[in-house]
Amino acid sequence: MRGIIMKKLLISAIFLILGGLMPLYAKELPVNIAHRGACAYLPEHTLPAKALAYGMEADYIEQDVVLTKDGKALVIHDIHLDTVTDVAQKFPGRARDDGRYYALDFTLAEIKTLKACERFDIASGTAVFAGRFPLWKSDFRLHTLEEEIELIQGLNKSTGRNVGIYPEIKDPAWHRAQGYDISPVVIRILADYGYTKAEDNIYLQCFDFEELKRIRHELKCELKLIQLTEEDFDVAAVASYANGIGPWIKQIITDIDANGRPILSDLATSAKAHGLKIHPYTFRADSLPAGMSADQLLETLFNQAGVDGIFSDFPDISRDFIRTRVKAK
Ligand code: CA
Repeated sequence: MRGIIMKKLLISAIFLILGGLMPLYAKELPVNIAHRGACAYLPEHTLPAKALAYGMEADYIEQDVVLTKDGKALVIHDIHLDTVTDVAQKFPGRARDDGRYYALDFTLAEIKTLKACERFDIASGTAVFAGRFPLWKSDFRLHTLEEEIELIQGLNKSTGRNVGIYPEIKDPAWHRAQGYDISPVVIRILADYGYTKAEDNIYLQCFDFEELKRIRHELKCELKLIQLTEEDFDVAAVASYANGIGPWIKQIITDIDANGRPILSDLATSAKAHGLKIHPYTFRADSLPAGMSADQLLETLFNQAGVDGIFSDFPDISRDFIRTRVKAK
């Protein structure tokens, strides 16, 4: 009897200790963000690519969002449909004058009839990343933001894990010029699925500085906001409304010197001084900065620049690096 009680006490103590340490430990490690899903292995922004990213234990899974003609939130990287689907074959004649097929010109029901595939170059018809999933094989479809959230939340329920979402509002100014206001649509869907507060397991990202400011101040969004950037910007100004930045890797590692050593900008230091998280894009083991190996790139970003996360096409490789090589802060 006494032995059993002691055993129970011991187990309780272990759980208390683990329970106390684990969240601290998890907080200190950078986050692994599956960029468009595990898109190095399956066509980007398809549900199978998201499920694979989940299986690879990504911390966050990314959704790019554009609107359809009937105002639905579609998960796709571009405002165009023609680089990742067979829209040109299925709906010839529906291109605009520039020859492109826009998601905004098609209803969700029409888009659901399209086959999705690995990203290809329209002019040549060949895959952008030659070594990835073969073009036009198997059967993939596009999906809505709601469908993807339900997949991730469903997996969170069935596995007991807690993977976050990382939606990006695409081209809000362009949507507005077409008569659509995308941000309130996305924020409403997020709220419907329980994402309303800073502590919820989500980051909301956008390249448009004015729009992200509007999301914070005018739309009163309390979620963690990430300002995406591709060139120099006012770090202090961004810190007034965002929780972090998503810079292009080239903004952090500007070059390599004659000895092959990476040259860092002061962006990471400056962002940290302003209390901003840094989640650079994009780690691609099959498309690395000139003169750098995958290992050197991750080592530089995590252990020299000290970034807080990474958008990764290869969430398995970035996961392994974070777990085994990143020095805890
Ligand atoms: Ca994105």
